[in-house]
Amino acid sequence: MTATNTQDILRKLPGVDSLLELAKTDTATEEIPPRVLKTAIRQTLERLRSRIRKGDTANVSPDNCLATALAMARKVLKPKLVPCINATGVVLHTNLGRALLCDDALSNITTIASGYSNLEFNIETGKRGIRYAAVEDLLCELTGAEAAMAVNNNAGAVLLCLDTLANGREVIVSRGELVEIGGSFRIPDVMAKSGGILKEVGATNRTHLKDYETAITDETAMLLKVHTSNYRIQGFTKSVSLPELAALGKERKVQVMEDLGSGTLIDFSKYGLAKEPTVSDSVASGADIVTFSGDKLLGGPQTGIIVGKRAAIEKIKTNPLTRALRIDKLTLASLESTLRLYRNEAEAVEKIPTLRMLSQSFEQTKKRAEPLLQEIQERVKASAVVEYADLSSRTGGGAFPELALPSRCIAISPLAMSAAHLEKRMRMNTPAIIGRIDNNRFIIDPRTLQQGDTQTIADALATILLENKR
Ligand SMILES: *Cc1c(COP(=O)(O)O)cnc(C)c1O
Repeated sequence: MTATNTQDILRKLPGVDSLLELAKTDTATEEIPPRVLKTAIRQTLERLRSRIRKGDTANVSPDNCLATALAMARKVLKPKLVPCINATGVVLHTNLGRALLCDDALSNITTIASGYSNLEFNIETGKRGIRYAAVEDLLCELTGAEAAMAVNNNAGAVLLCLDTLANGREVIVSRGELVEIGGSFRIPDVMAKSGGILKEVGATNRTHLKDYETAITDETAMLLKVHTSNYRIQGFTKSVSLPELAALGKERKVQVMEDLGSGTLIDFSKYGLAKEPTVSDSVASGADIVTFSGDKLLGGPQTGIIVGKRAAIEKIKTNPLTRALRIDKLTLASLESTLRLYRNEAEAVEKIPTLRMLSQSFEQTKKRAEPLLQEIQERVKASAVVEYADLSSRTGGGAFPELALPSRCIAISPLAMSAAHLEKRMRMNTPAIIGRIDNNRFIIDPRTLQQGDTQTIADALATILLENKR
């Protein structure tokens, strides 16, 4: 295209005002807020202009420009945080929002958020109350701790505890426990931010009690144990247990803290999972402070729970950082409702989605896979081979890293497209359906499916696989 040609086309490009006038005659623009429409028109013209300058040909008719702007505006107006179907079998999928809240928590959020509450008001005295009062007694009851509180998340809890108890002083940590959790939580970095001075002891695979003993000086504030949530060191290994550390801390008068990561209130070994130390075990071992997440194995809202000795917790409560990390009433409402269920373990396992999904036996996944297979086979007809695949689900969220939960899955091998393409199309569906690929097959794991998901998945598969055949 010649320079004059480019100038000619640019001159033909309609103006913002004329397109806004044109929009008034189009009923399709009625549901679009004027400011969104105006921005979309501006950006559309901007893009067309730069394409024309590059020498591209472009349809600059007013109707076409407006249609492009409308499509852009509709895209902008779509909600960005949207529900997804988790067909991955990863129960605590951090990218997909970790724990699903139980019904009690959901209805309590609505109750508390839609009206006033005693969030920081003591009804008996008529004076200002304490935010944590709603959960402190419950947490103490369930873990055996003297005192408890909760902040924004466990990363915040660890930062806050270190800042309060070890700022400017040494914190001794085993080299085998300097973990990184997905999303840039690294013990050395959090330590640096808190002002604690990291003193590494032992070797990557082995740390002995005497390593801690000889490292303690007048500058030592704390012995920190970090749960190696998302990995295991295997082979010739040795680590020091929390009770041993707590005894040493007591003898040498330094605080002992454990970052439990996931932290569970029930013994999962009863449900066929690995034995994980419970929060009560950690508290009973004599640690001054134990921190854990609310939205990992606990199955509640995102929060960081801090339990332990009263003296330490009282200090933490008065740290100005606590105000910056405080939890909101929605979290508090759902945390209280979730914790209340733990008073009766059977009820907790039945009603808390995370516990229910994790405790599902292979037999139960077989029962859930059956109607799923039938429905899918019926809908996709001959466009794909649909069969059972006995694979395994994962806990996720850095809990039980090596544990495979046997699960009967559905494997789909499309005839007219690759499994990778099907995976992408399912992901781009509304709602997004997130599965995985195994051996060139698209895998759907029933463990993490919720009510109504079967229908949505079958509909999406039928649309994608059958339309592509035509
Ligand atoms: C997950 C985890 C954290 C971070 O917890 P969040 O609640 O995600 O902030 C910290 N430490 C350990 C050991 C963890 O597993």
